[in-house]
Amino acid sequence: MQNSWSHHLRQLLGALTGCLILGFMLGYPLQLLCLGLLGYLGWTMVQSRKMYDWLLNPDASKTPPHSVGLWGDLFDNLHKLHLKNRKTEEKLLTQINRVRESTNAMRDGVVMTDSQGTIEWWNGAAQQLLGFRPETDLGQYIQNLIRSPDFKRYFDSRNYEEPLELNSPARPHIRLNFQISLFGDNDRMIVAKDVTRLHQLEQMRRDFVSNVSHEMRTPLTVISGYLETLEDNADDLPPKWRRAVNTMSIQASRMEALITDLILLSRIEIGEQAYDDHLNDIRPILEKIVHDARALSGSQEHDISLEVKDHRKLRGDEGQLRSAFSNLVFNAVKYTPAKGKITITWSADSEGGHLSVKDNGIGIDPIHIPRLTERFYRADPSRHLDTGGTGLGLAIVKHVLLNHDGKLDIRSRIGEGSEFICHFPADRLVGRAPETVNIADLATGETSKAPRTPEASGKRPDRAEPRG
Ligand code: ADP
Repeated sequence: MQNSWSHHLRQLLGALTGCLILGFMLGYPLQLLCLGLLGYLGWTMVQSRKMYDWLLNPDASKTPPHSVGLWGDLFDNLHKLHLKNRKTEEKLLTQINRVRESTNAMRDGVVMTDSQGTIEWWNGAAQQLLGFRPETDLGQYIQNLIRSPDFKRYFDSRNYEEPLELNSPARPHIRLNFQISLFGDNDRMIVAKDVTRLHQLEQMRRDFVSNVSHEMRTPLTVISGYLETLEDNADDLPPKWRRAVNTMSIQASRMEALITDLILLSRIEIGEQAYDDHLNDIRPILEKIVHDARALSGSQEHDISLEVKDHRKLRGDEGQLRSAFSNLVFNAVKYTPAKGKITITWSADSEGGHLSVKDNGIGIDPIHIPRLTERFYRADPSRHLDTGGTGLGLAIVKHVLLNHDGKLDIRSRIGEGSEFICHFPADRLVGRAPETVNIADLATGETSKAPRTPEASGKRPDRAEPRG
């Protein structure tokens, strides 16, 4: 290019020198030089006009205007560049079309929105699953089409680690699992998966467990009643029957506890338990639990302390919160040897409210922690016989926290103790900013059996068998 440019320059200078020499020969050097320059200017004007017309309609298939010299080279190079761009554009378009075709062939609905949530594109499955119509819905704000407070909260949260399950706005019998990904300049790709079948199976499982538990409750109440009568009249029983009746009674209590927990869990899970969203003063709830925990500890004399560092109220269902907190505290008692230390702390910061239940008990091997909230999962199956646990306590805690937009954090080391922390979002705290107030140990005492807590407490301290 450099060579060709200097070649053209040399050509121009040669022509102008020719004009000058001719001018000297004819006696009009300046006039002929001006004439040459004017001629060059005129030619340049004609060529630039050609280029202007050509660029206005740069049809790649059309050959560039014919020209010579510098302008000829310019036209040729521009034409080559134009053809190259065309090819790249076509290649890109083919790739975009392939991606569109493949996403169209997907069974999952895919919707693209810009950073504001305006719908830019969707695939065929999205049309089916979400009922979008190309004539009216393109360019609409997504929250106008998926009108659900849960979806709005999820969409605006920008935290898309967990998917969201909702019924389809257009076909309510279809259950959809939404997963959003951020890309580009805060644009969003929303993938909606049809999970109706899974949802129905899950529903059937819950209904089955709930029905079986309810059905078993009546016969078990009858058996427990008779066993209680037999125990009350133990003196009339032959000695070899006394032990049998006592063991049967303990096992019946365990079954009762299990059924109570199963029913409670399925109620919390399917939302059958009326979710009573009111403002709860955490202190009295924790004080009562500490009182029951001391009763459960009994002769083991755990050192149980409570510290309430924030006096704002927590929005939620009192029964469910009581149930979750008591499960954690009673677990701390069960899994901490006699005279061990248990610290319960309620605190709040800009992130929200936090309930920590910390013990210096037997601890848990970290490999078990991710699975602890599964139903019937036990870190050490051989241990539970000593504690009388149902294996459902942490599953109840998890579901209560899910209902309260909360999260459970478990930190533990074998032999060093455990800390279970329930995190609640800041928008569930109502009241003035925190002001630190410590409530030192509540009066210790209760050495007898714990009173029966309401069913909502999920675990009843008096059901726990004496530790071996
Ligand atoms: P369980 O009725 O068996 O206590 P949970 O669901 O309440 O069932 O707890 C599940 C398992 O987690 C327990 O079996 C126990 O192995 C472990 N675990 C719970 N809390 C503690 C704790 N504070 N210290 C040690 N292990 C615990």
